[in-house]
Amino acid sequence: AGSRAQEEQIGFYDRDADHALARQISMEAELREAVERGEFINFYQPKIDLKTGKLAGAEALVRWRHPQRGLIQPTEFVPVLERSGLVTQVGRNVMQRAMEDWRAWHDAGLKPPQIAVNVAPAQFRCDSLFDDIERALNTAEASLRPLSIEVTESGLVADQRRVVDILNRVRELDVPVAIDDFGTGYSSLAYLVTLPVDVLKIDRSFVVKMTQDANYMGMVQTIVQLAHTLELKVVAEGIETEEEAKFLKLLRCEQGQGYLYGRPLPAEEFARLLQH
Ligand code: C2E
Ligand code: MG
Ligand code: MG
Ligand code: MG
Repeated sequence: AGSRAQEEQIGFYDRDADHALARQISMEAELREAVERGEFINFYQPKIDLKTGKLAGAEALVRWRHPQRGLIQPTEFVPVLERSGLVTQVGRNVMQRAMEDWRAWHDAGLKPPQIAVNVAPAQFRCDSLFDDIERALNTAEASLRPLSIEVTESGLVADQRRVVDILNRVRELDVPVAIDDFGTGYSSLAYLVTLPVDVLKIDRSFVVKMTQDANYMGMVQTIVQLAHTLELKVVAEGIETEEEAKFLKLLRCEQGQGYLYGRPLPAEEFARLLQH
C-alpha cells in the first residue's frame, strides 16, 4: 500500500486530462497550506548588460519547497495560484522577500542590482498593489532603485484607464515596469504602445527560434526597433547560446537573461555570485 500511495503522489502533477480538475482542487488545498506554512522561496536569475557583459539586474522567480516532493517549478503551480486567487498573497510575499534579500546583500556590502518581481494580473487588479510596493521599497533603500516589476500583456489589457493610472503611480516610485513575455499575448500592439512602461521583455520562444528561422529573426529585430522608437529598453529572455547573444547584441538589445549567463539561484548562491 505504501508504494501505491507513493505512485499516486508521483503522478499527482502529471498532465492527465481525466483527473485535471480533481488534481487542481487538491493542489489548491495543498497550496493554501503551503502559503500558511511559508513553503515558497525566491530564486534569482541574473540579467546581463549585453554591451558590457556586466550584471545589470536579477529576476525573482518563486519556487515551492514541498515537504515531500522537493522543489516544484512555478509553471506547475503558478497557474493554480492564479485561478484560486492565492497568487495575490504569494506575489506580495515574493516582492517583500526580494527586498529583504536586497537589503541583506546591501548591508553586507554586496552592491545588489535591481530586482525584477513578476506581478500577476490578479495583483494588478488588487487595490493593495501600490501599498505593497511602497512597503517593499521601504524595506530596501528606495533611492537606490532596488525594484522593478514585470507584468504580462494579460495583466494589462482589462480596464485601460485603471491600468494606466496604476502604471503611472508605480513609475513615480522609480519602479520601472516591463511588459513580460512580449509577443505571446493577443493584445493589440496599438494598445500596448500607449502604455506607460519602460521595458519590453522578448519572450524566450522568439529567442529560441531566432537563429533557426529568418521569420523569427525578423520579428525580434522589429520588436527591438519598435521598442527603441518608443524609447523603451529591451530585455531578451532565454538566451542559451553565444550565437543568440551575438545577434541580440547586433540588434542593440540592452539586456539578456538566460542559462548562458546563469540559471535561477537560491538567495545564498546569488549572494556568492555578487561577491565575484
Ligand atoms: P517568466 O517571468 O517569463 O520568467 C522566465 C522563465 O524563463 C523562468 O522560468 C526562467 O527560469 C526561465 N528561463 C530563463 N532563462 C532560460 C533559458 O535560458 N532557458 C530556459 N529553458 N528557460 C529559461 P521559471 O522560473 O520556471 O518561471 C516560469 C514562469 O512562472 C515565469 O516566467 C513567470 O511567468 C512565473 N513566475 C515565476 N515566479 C513568479 C512570481 O513570483 N509571481 C508570478 N506571478 N509569476 C511567477
Ligand atoms: Mg518575468
Ligand atoms: Mg518573461
Ligand atoms: Mg517567458
